[in-house]
Parts: sequence; C-alpha cells; structure tokens
Amino acid sequence: MKIFVVNAGSSSLKYQLIDMENEQVLCKGLCERIGVSGEITHKAADGREYVAETAMPTHSEAFEAVVYALTKSDAKVIDSFDEVSAIGHRIVQGGSIYNGSCLITPEVLKDIDELGALAPLHNPANLLGVKACIKTFGEEIPQVAVFDTSFHQTMPAKAYMFALPYKYFEEYQVRKYGAHGTSHHFVSDRVAALEGKDKKDIKIITCHLGNGCSITAIKDGVCLDTSMGFTPLDGFMMGTRTGTLDPSALTFIAEKENLSPADINRICNKESGVLGVSGVSNDNRDVAEAAANGNERAQLAIDMQRYQIIKFVGSYIAAMNGVDAIVFTGGIGENDAKLRETVCESLTYLGLEIDKEKNAVRGKEIKISTDNSKVNVYIIPTNEELAIARDTLRIISK
Ligand code: ADP
Repeated sequence: MKIFVVNAGSSSLKYQLIDMENEQVLCKGLCERIGVSGEITHKAADGREYVAETAMPTHSEAFEAVVYALTKSDAKVIDSFDEVSAIGHRIVQGGSIYNGSCLITPEVLKDIDELGALAPLHNPANLLGVKACIKTFGEEIPQVAVFDTSFHQTMPAKAYMFALPYKYFEEYQVRKYGAHGTSHHFVSDRVAALEGKDKKDIKIITCHLGNGCSITAIKDGVCLDTSMGFTPLDGFMMGTRTGTLDPSALTFIAEKENLSPADINRICNKESGVLGVSGVSNDNRDVAEAAANGNERAQLAIDMQRYQIIKFVGSYIAAMNGVDAIVFTGGIGENDAKLRETVCESLTYLGLEIDKEKNAVRGKEIKISTDNSKVNVYIIPTNEELAIARDTLRIISK
C-alpha cells in the first residue's frame, strides 16, 4: 500500500510517496514559487531526478506537475496515481477540537478553515493543499488530516492556560496549543521502543531543535507540557523567533517606535532569535563559525540559546519529578554535538553522563549516554512524513 504525504505551505508544497509494506520512501519532492511562477524538484529513491519549471498559478497546477513527475517523468516511480491508497496532510492547527488524526470530511475542512484564526500563516495554506488535492485526485481517495497540535491536547489546564483574564480564553480560545506534535510523538514512541518499555512507564523530555524549536515533557505516555504556546513563537530562542520574553518589553518598544501589532509579529517571528542577537544569520552553523572567529554577539546568541534550552529541560524535570530519557532531534538537535554536550553538562547533578565519542555522531539514531548514566540520552532523527503516513494508514484501516 502506498501513501502520499503532503505538507502544503502558501507558496510551496513538499511531498513524499511512501510504500507502507516496508516504510520505504519511493520519492520525495518540492514545488516552489506557487502563485508566482512554478518549479518542481522531484527525487526518486534510486537517485533519478526530475527538475522543471512549469506554471503553477495555484496548488492545483502544482499537484498536476507532481502527478507528471510521479507517473511520467524520467524519475517516475508509479504508473498511475490509482496505485496510491490515501493522502496524508500535515495540518498545523487543530485547536481544542482535534486530539488525533482524522479522515477529512466537509466538516473537517470547515474546522481547518475556522482554526485559521489561530494559525493564519499555516492553516489557510494547508487548506489550499487539501482542496487542490481533492480537485486533482477526486473525492474517492481517502485524505487524512494529521495535526501538529493534537499530541499536545493531553496537557492539563494548569499547563495550557495563560494567566490572562479568563474571558480571552472563553471568547477567543487564547491558550497554549503547542507545535511539532507529530515529531515529539514520533521520537517519544521510538525512545520507548529503544528502552524496551511501555511509554506509560517512562518520563521523557523531547527536544525538537530545528529552525523552529520546542521541548516537550511526556509523562504517563502523554504530553504534560510543551514549550510552544498559542503560536510557534513561544518557548525559547530560535533561528529568527524570540521565544518567551516579558510582554512589556514589546509594549515599551511599540510605544517608542509607534509599531503596530503586525510590526511586532514580524519583529518577533522573523527578525529576532539567533539572527536578531547575533546579527549574523539564523543558521546555527554560520553563527558558530562567526563566534569561533571572535564575533562576541554570535557567541552571546549561542550562549543564550543553550542557556534557555537548559532552563526548559530543567523546568520539565521539576514538573515531572524526574526524567528517564532525553531526546535530541531536528536539524540542530541531530547535528550540534556541542549544544547537546552543554545541555547535558548542566544535568550531571542527576547522575546523567554522556559518552563524548558517541555524542560526536551526526544525524544518526544513537544512545549517547554512558551505561552508568542515571538518565538515558538519545539522538533520534525525526521523521514527520513517516509519522503522517503511519497515522494515515491507521485511520483508513479503521
Ligand atoms: P526545520 O525546522 O525547517 O525542519 P531543520 O530541522 O532542518 O529545520 O533544522 C535546520 C537547522 O539545523 C539549521 O538552521 C541549522 O541551524 C541547524 N543545523 C543543521 N546542521 C547543523 C550542524 N551541523 N550544526 C549545527 N546546526 C546545524
């Protein structure tokens, strides 16, 4: 059985075709500049590639280009799209409505649309992807929504509520929803498997550190708390995002510079974080290089990010009254050995000990703590597409 996984952005479309017999990726690809011009880069698992520029005024034409790449191009992997059993969609915001994945129906489409108020940058784009899929592939093929937020729906109210007047929660559903749920779910399941234990019996902290970053505390097999909040801006410092800060710093700056809420959103989401502090780049590799060459602001950005990660991990250890396993994933989590080492050094009081040689590894699934360590530490490369494909298969098999 083959599952087609879609991650639609406003002007881009990422996809994978996965054979669920062996969970092998048959091909992956990316359509870019949708609505502007149109470009597809498609790669088959055996290395064949198809790259083309073709007009993509909307996501529908992008899917037509994908069908051509999949079934007719020099890098084709199937004869007809009829071989695909279902389509799984990444949907960023499921609000308080969705605590799991579900088959997409007209009601679900309406919910995704309405939840756009809580995720204006993502849900409308995700919805465009679903609608274009229905237009291109018809109504017969099952389509499944896999929400980034649903894993976090188990959080208790004491964790997800903000200490604002209660009416804002009642009137506008302002609360913490979290993000990266598919990734936290995937790597925490994997940790339980590697530990050979029931997930309910271990306390896990998952650190998803990429362009966007979040840390989640998992207790009794479910999410207890997570660092991202109402939107993916909360938590700790990321490539271009602030993470948590005193809101009055923002009202102060807004008054000084006569800024609108939209200006504040832009500054906090796109101009801050590692980029904002270092003035160098949003990419940790560039910033580390600048720091090594003596750039003090670059070093400060690195130090701040690591310190903030340590504080989140520490707070979640307190929230769970302990931790059995810590996981690093995402581009930074999987590749940045120094960051992992620095975070783990702050936890030696727990009897946590890492093996520096094992920690020197990049992007490979490995336990990096020593046999004597009281807390097990892992690098687990995340695979959100596979998680979406698995959930899609589970839903259509019901
Ligand atoms: P996204 O959140 O967009 O999926 P990724 O998970 O791919 O992003 O993470 C991207 C980030 O990973 C880059 O911005 C870069 O900072 C970081 N990264 C990748 N490789 C390394 C490395 N070797 N050392 C440090 N950081 C790295």
